[in-house]
Amino acid sequence: MNGWEFETKAIHSGVDPARHLGATSVPIYETSSFAYDTAQELAEVFEGRQQGHVYSRISNPTVSAFEERMTSLEDGTGAIATSSGMAAIATILFALTSQGDEIVTSRSLFGGTYLLFSKIFEKYGVRFIFVDPLDLEGFQKTFSDKTRAVFLETIGNPKLDVPDIRLVSDLAEKHGVPLVVDSTLTTPYLLKANDFGVSLVLHSTTKYITGTGSAIGGVFVDLGNFDWSSCKSGSIKSAAAEVRSDLAFLAVARKEVLQNTGCCLSPFNAYLHSVGLETLALRMERHCSNALALAEFLSRHPDVPEVSYPGLRGNRCFATAKKQFGGRFGGLLTFRLGSREKCFRFIDSLKVAKNLANLGDAKTLVIHPATTIYHDCTDEEMSQAGVSKDLVRVSVGIEAINDIIHDFDQALMEVNQ
Ligand code: PLP
Repeated sequence: MNGWEFETKAIHSGVDPARHLGATSVPIYETSSFAYDTAQELAEVFEGRQQGHVYSRISNPTVSAFEERMTSLEDGTGAIATSSGMAAIATILFALTSQGDEIVTSRSLFGGTYLLFSKIFEKYGVRFIFVDPLDLEGFQKTFSDKTRAVFLETIGNPKLDVPDIRLVSDLAEKHGVPLVVDSTLTTPYLLKANDFGVSLVLHSTTKYITGTGSAIGGVFVDLGNFDWSSCKSGSIKSAAAEVRSDLAFLAVARKEVLQNTGCCLSPFNAYLHSVGLETLALRMERHCSNALALAEFLSRHPDVPEVSYPGLRGNRCFATAKKQFGGRFGGLLTFRLGSREKCFRFIDSLKVAKNLANLGDAKTLVIHPATTIYHDCTDEEMSQAGVSKDLVRVSVGIEAINDIIHDFDQALMEVNQ
């Protein structure tokens, strides 16, 4: 399996038909618990002296198969699946931080992540230092002896700025802290996070990994690049002394956090994520080529004053994105129309694209971020995240590109009637 390429691993890893009556996709083990013949056996599994599943809040065979497939695709050492992308982020932070700790992070984050950091974790005494992700000097200045991790998005949602991950991972390494990267918009197909020195990579599997908008989920993978025995977070350091140090982070995340918060992935959703992964490579190619074609169309359109897409040659992140994502630029773009009213009229006039709060679906999706995802944020917070009142965000689907362009063209005509 080690020598296999991405597309082969996406289909064959994590499934051993001999263990499942010959089934070639891992069946949905829809059970809360697992019975053992003797009290001794159950005790041994509980204590981790014998392999096995005891209770689906802690682990489940269908979920484990998905975790194995993600580990293989990310070239990691192990993974933990969670009930959502937000749960993946929360689990990582619960494992890494205590009261008084600090996290260095980006100013342009998905709205839910920003609110989790600023409204929830800050309440429990964890401090976040928000930095322009393209300003390396800014990052450099924010480290202190309380810093426990750096947290970044591979492509800021919805600002679409692309940090140089190698430069940030070198900085994190210099300061002895792990780099956590949210690769939801890039998926393991566009970003080989392990090649850039990332410590933990996470995904909202709700998005491209499922690919059909049919399930909520999340996952994070330890890439084996950080020496957890030097971790400044207390329980991980102790775990590194007790178990193998390369397993310490995942041991704490599963036994201390997942087991006690209960934010586990359902077996049904794990099944949908595993099946989704089998076609991820093909879908991502199409998302990226459609997004580039739509961005080019919009940037030539006389009624669209501004388009943002890292794949446009004039975009300030073009070179970094090209280098990091293998010449592809993702499926998300934004554009401005001059006023909130025009955005609303545009969205209401679309016939193919759907107006909803998700991304990474086979369907083209649009949303007006200022009145939806960011409606709880102040004007200042919105502007930091790159959200203006006249901004439309588009998650470009995999429909025929001519139909998408025609839909946008006719909706733009309606706006300017
Ligand atoms: N990270 C990013 C970049 C996202 O765009 C989202 C959701 O849109 C999340 C995390 C949260 O994922 P979920 O909705 O699965 O909790």
